[in-house]
Amino acid sequence: DVLTIETASKTYPVYVGTNILDQLSVFIKDSIPDLTTIMVITDETVAKLYSNDIRAALENFNTEFCIVPSGERAKTFDVYYQALSFAFEKKLDRKSLVIAFGGGAIGDLGGFVASTYMRGIPFIQVPTTILSHDSAVGGKVAINHPLGKNMIGSFYQPEAVLYDLTFLQSLPQNEKLSGFAEVIKHSLIHDPSFYDWLVTNINSIEALDGEKLHHSLKRGIEIKNHFVSKDERETGIRAYLNFGHTLGHAIEAEMGYGQWTHGESVMVGILFALQLSKDFAGLNFQTEPLKEWLHQLGYETEIPQELSVQNLVSRMKQDKKSIGQKVNFVLLEEIGRPKLYEVSDEEIEKQLLIFQQ
Ligand code: NAD
Ligand code: ZN
Repeated sequence: DVLTIETASKTYPVYVGTNILDQLSVFIKDSIPDLTTIMVITDETVAKLYSNDIRAALENFNTEFCIVPSGERAKTFDVYYQALSFAFEKKLDRKSLVIAFGGGAIGDLGGFVASTYMRGIPFIQVPTTILSHDSAVGGKVAINHPLGKNMIGSFYQPEAVLYDLTFLQSLPQNEKLSGFAEVIKHSLIHDPSFYDWLVTNINSIEALDGEKLHHSLKRGIEIKNHFVSKDERETGIRAYLNFGHTLGHAIEAEMGYGQWTHGESVMVGILFALQLSKDFAGLNFQTEPLKEWLHQLGYETEIPQELSVQNLVSRMKQDKKSIGQKVNFVLLEEIGRPKLYEVSDEEIEKQLLIFQQ
């Protein structure tokens, strides 16, 4: 499959399928004229598993490998600096290409390196996680500052995304859960029949592969594209993608990054947003069947006991998407119909106590 992402700044293809890595060199030959050097940015885990595959796929090009730490540790100033030094040492120029080969962390780092080296050189995303159906589309790239996650970054679209689902098989269970939470989110904010399809068809994350995985991720990308294509720089509907993330980010940060994955935290945030939606936005929805399904898949559905309500609330108020004393929540008026609501911190506190009962 090839999906087309259209944004104001660029239109580019997303290839989705199994065993499609050989299309990478075809795309590069056809689309990147006068290519000098390719810099592959990947992490230690992905390099161990798949460096032979990517080497083989790029054997006809002058390719250099920059291997960085796995996970969030890739998104530091230090690693960013090292990657730029690597680019200078290998004499990358404006006709060079960065390939980000890994999960969302590598996509964010690689894209930010590409967007800033010599004011921007081309890059291609070759994502390797379920989560990256989300992160590889839309053009947000960033590293972290100790005082703010993803706060140093830019909007920078890739030349292409090549999503070979074969790589996903080696993902650990919690990373699968993390990524699939975003698929569920995409269904809830935009497509009730896709949501029904997921609940009916996906009964195990472990055994998720083949056609069902393909369909889930393809539809997830289409929905993400719906929200970003009309709003590349997040002045309007792109914010709906934040559904479940207000509390989700707070849980993730309060737990300490890496304790709960992003998606596991967001899943609890989604359940909380659904509760608020019923109270404030008139949503008519049975939460129990959803919770049962989530348990079956392996998700937590409650806020970790050790976290305090006050700390969660103050985290939510620090969120860059919040304004003044109130916290902005994406709520659903119906499944597939999101809207922004401002909720006061007293109300959030009250609702969190109800949620925890
Ligand atoms: P990740 O890159 O940290 O990958 C998660 C873990 O899985 C890492 O330890 C990685 O080494 C490992 N891994 C990757 N591919 C693997 C494979 N095929 N087999 C086995 N292990 C593999 O992150 P992620 O979960 O993909 O994404 C999270 C990151 O994405 C966060 O930094 C988040 O801020 C960012 N993000 C960005 C956007 C965006 O729009 N730019 C959107 C959502 C999330
Ligand atoms: Zn997310």
